[in-house]
This record gives sequence, structure tokens and C-alpha cells, in this order.
Amino acid sequence: MQRKLTVRDLRAGNRARVLRTLYFDRPRSRQEIATLTGLSQASVSTVVGELIAEGTVVEAGQVESDGGRPRVLLRVNPARGVVVGVDVGETHVLVEAFDLTLERLAGIELPAPRPLTPEAAATCVLRGVRRVLDDARAHAPVLGVGIGVPGSVDGGTVHAQTIGWHGAPLERLLRAGLDAPLHLDNGANTLGQAEAWFGAGRGAPTVVVALIGSGVGASVVVNGTPYRGAFGGAGEWGHTTVALDGARCRCGADGCLEAYLGAGALVERYRTLTPDADDDQERAFRSLLAARTPESERILAEAVRYAGLGIGNLINLMNPTRVVVGGWAGLLLGERHLPEIRKEAAHHALRRSFEQVEVVLGELGAESVALGAATLPVADFLANGGVPTR
Ligand SMILES: [Zn+2]
Repeated sequence: MQRKLTVRDLRAGNRARVLRTLYFDRPRSRQEIATLTGLSQASVSTVVGELIAEGTVVEAGQVESDGGRPRVLLRVNPARGVVVGVDVGETHVLVEAFDLTLERLAGIELPAPRPLTPEAAATCVLRGVRRVLDDARAHAPVLGVGIGVPGSVDGGTVHAQTIGWHGAPLERLLRAGLDAPLHLDNGANTLGQAEAWFGAGRGAPTVVVALIGSGVGASVVVNGTPYRGAFGGAGEWGHTTVALDGARCRCGADGCLEAYLGAGALVERYRTLTPDADDDQERAFRSLLAARTPESERILAEAVRYAGLGIGNLINLMNPTRVVVGGWAGLLLGERHLPEIRKEAAHHALRRSFEQVEVVLGELGAESVALGAATLPVADFLANGGVPTR
């Protein structure tokens, strides 16, 4: 049976609505907040009074109003608290500290431990978090730490088949050394949430962020929140099958999209033709794009077809208003080939769904998993109406 809403629930709901409006639509006057939230002037005044008293909202100047007194503008106080975002990648661990409005305060990049065991990853993350909090000279409370990992997250454990993590107890390992609220999510989701809040997905109600890096993934963001599936495993776009008896994928299956579109697979193909290609995957991928030989162009033309096919599938499955192509390899490929990728996607998607969608390049760059991870504690803070959770 559904629990009855109490006055306290309603108050918390009102606080969350006001805070969300000021966070994403800043700065605003009390009158504008009432219009945008549909709350009464009296409710807005009460909630704003509380938020100002708690230091969550501050005044931000005045605007003239027609005939009457000037109206005071309000905004979220960046100094209300510090949030930390962590990108646990296969090659590096990036840790960044931000203020509440996600202005970067400090950051550090550490090489990923080898082998990348859950224990070694946790030790590395904790070291990085301590360093950035020292550097940020955080006098403000730490509202939370968000962590993007290369796999799906279910109840604090991480499943990342391609790096051999099967139910890795990362949350328990991190909690032992961390005195702040902790939020774990798939790195694809954290980047997706960042693009939806601040980047190329801004303002679109249903965004699919298609991530092409060494591997391939996607995040479906509906009204600013990633769709995670029943157990956190949604969005594994790279392991959808595009060929029966196809190329072997890192996950062990055959014919996955990742085996045709991931930078790892493309560079491997390039290396068979160019044995002296750079050992570093990203540099090798750049030289594949720059080579412009008949062989390299053939590899890229095929990659474009698979990108279009995969995006066409996403459009048919999710009917999004926008598809954002991101990830470091996706951005490089898209810079040169986005019009052809769109054309291929149009070929595979149903006509009506394709007419309703924009296919655009990501705006936040490839290194925004950490920023995205920092949106996790912020989302929690906003949803709770400005009350930090433990
Ligand atoms: Zn696979």
C-alpha cells in the first residue's frame, strides 16, 4: 500500500523543486521561482527563507521590476559544500574536487594500478580523494564523492566483465577509508548525466549518449537521470550483437558492436596493416585518422557504417530527442565523419523516429567522466531539497 504524503514530505518536495529551479535556471527572483515551480508566493518565501538561513541559497543582486520595488535575485551558494568526482579508467584514475555549482577546485590524475584489482583501485581512489580535498582546502563540508567505474554497479558491487571484475565489492572497500556519502555508477552514466545537465544534451528530455572509447557504451538519460535497468546493467550498447558468428569481442561473445567500433578493435585492425603504428592506443587511433591511405580509409568507412547502424538501433529502441556522440574516439571520429554517421543512422532508423532526433557531438570533451561522477552527489543533494545524506 502506498504511504500517505505527510506535511513534511510536501515541504521536502517544495524545497527540492525550488532548489532544482535555482540550480539549473540560476539566478531567479522569488516571483520567477513561483511561476517556474507552480508553488504559491508564500510557499516560495518560506522555502527560500530556510535555504538562505542554511547557507544553501544566497542573494545575487537585483533587477528592476515594472513600477514596483526592485526584485532580489537568488542563486545556489557555490561554497555550500564540496563534491568530489572520480573517473576509474582502465589506464588512469582522475580525481577532481568541485564546488556545489561544479566549478573545478582541484584535480589529480594517477596512473591506474596494474593489475587493476578492486583493492588496488580502491587504494588509488582514496589516495586521490585525500589529495584533492587537501588541495581544495575544503572548509565547506564534503557533500559526497561520486565514482564512475568501467562497468555496471549493483548494490555497491561492480560487474566489469572486460577487466575481470565480477561483483567486486568496491563500495565496501572505499567506505572503509572514506568519511563522506559515496555514490557509485557506470562511467558511461556519469558522462551521460554530465552531457545532459551541462553539455550537448542540455534541454532535451530524452538523450542517448553514445560513448566510443577503447570500448563502447551508451547512457539513456531521461529528464536528467540515467536509466539504469533493474540491476544497473542497462546501456551496454557495445555488447549488442551486430553480426552472427562475427568478430570475437573482449567480453568473450562474438559479433558485438564493440568488436567493430571500439578504438581497441579499430587500432588492432590498423596495426595489422601498419606494424610500426604507435603502441599507445589513442596516438595510434589519431594516426589512423590522419593516414588517409586507401586501407585506413576503408577501416574508417566501415567504422562509420557500424556507428550509424548502432545509432540507428538506439534511435529505434529509445526514440530519443537527441543522440550525443561522445567518448574520446567518438569525438575524433565524429569531428571528421558526423555527417556520414548521420546518413548511415538514417538508413537504419525508422523514418519518423529519425526525423524527430538530432545527432550531435558531445560538448564536454572526453575527460568528463569525473565531472559526471561529481553530479551524483549533487543530484542527491538536490533531490533531498538541500539536506546532505549519509
Ligand atoms: Zn562484447
